[in-house]
Amino acid sequence: MLIAITYHEDFGKRGFSVLKERIEPSFEKLMESGLVDGDDVQVFKARPAPLDLVKQAHTEAHMANMESDPYREVAILSAGSVMMAAEMVAEGLARRAFAYTGTAGHHASRGSCWGFCYFNDVAVTIIRLRQMGLQRFLIVDVDPHFGDGTRDFFKDDADVFHINMHSGTGEDHDSIKNNYDIGLTFGGSNEQFLSALKSGLELARNFDFQMAFVIFGHDSHQDDYGGFNLTFEAYPRMTQLIMEAVGDRGLIFVLSGGSCVHVAKRVIPDVISVLSGRWPA
Ligand SMILES: [Zn+2]
Repeated sequence: MLIAITYHEDFGKRGFSVLKERIEPSFEKLMESGLVDGDDVQVFKARPAPLDLVKQAHTEAHMANMESDPYREVAILSAGSVMMAAEMVAEGLARRAFAYTGTAGHHASRGSCWGFCYFNDVAVTIIRLRQMGLQRFLIVDVDPHFGDGTRDFFKDDADVFHINMHSGTGEDHDSIKNNYDIGLTFGGSNEQFLSALKSGLELARNFDFQMAFVIFGHDSHQDDYGGFNLTFEAYPRMTQLIMEAVGDRGLIFVLSGGSCVHVAKRVIPDVISVLSGRWPA
């Protein structure tokens, strides 16, 4: 069944300065890869998220602060990209999806934001999915920065299991509220990363979710700006592990941190190749 990619050229043109340079080259590489030549992987043009849903997620004060922000429009479009991807999966039109974005979302709390984030794309999308009747979600945040905004939204929501990998130390599992933090000390290797991911997925094994989101920051690559030290081999393995855990349920990859063009040009097509079942190409 279909793998949907949601994309808009504004992500590369008007996205956050650190994040936008990778967008067009990685998308071009994907177009050249042959992955989208058949019917099973298709690109859809992202539409802005409905403003009323963004307003439901965030406080009035935050919405007012964002009013004059130069990244406001592209942030709403980014949330719309994630929402469109998730709606297609929820409606059975696609089995899995990869959502491009021009701003990130996991540092956006209800009432504040930082770190290239403005609105919490996944939180806005979950509001929409709950309107559609879905209730329980798994969020796997593999971006090396702590997903504090996403945690703000879901810390007390036991229907959202939040696996939060970050560059730090320690491990913390709240089995009542379904939050799991796992720190990889600065420079976490492929093996440390994949083993931490396995631990998180194992804890979520008995959590009965309907759809999974992956906060996919490739700033975890050793050449990129985040705190992990991963190489290219980690990303297909990561995707396979997550797919095994998610099984037949919906799976949405959400583009998050990362600035290196050469990293994005390789890891994005690689991840989509695994999602489509073509890996190794
Ligand atoms: Zn990051």
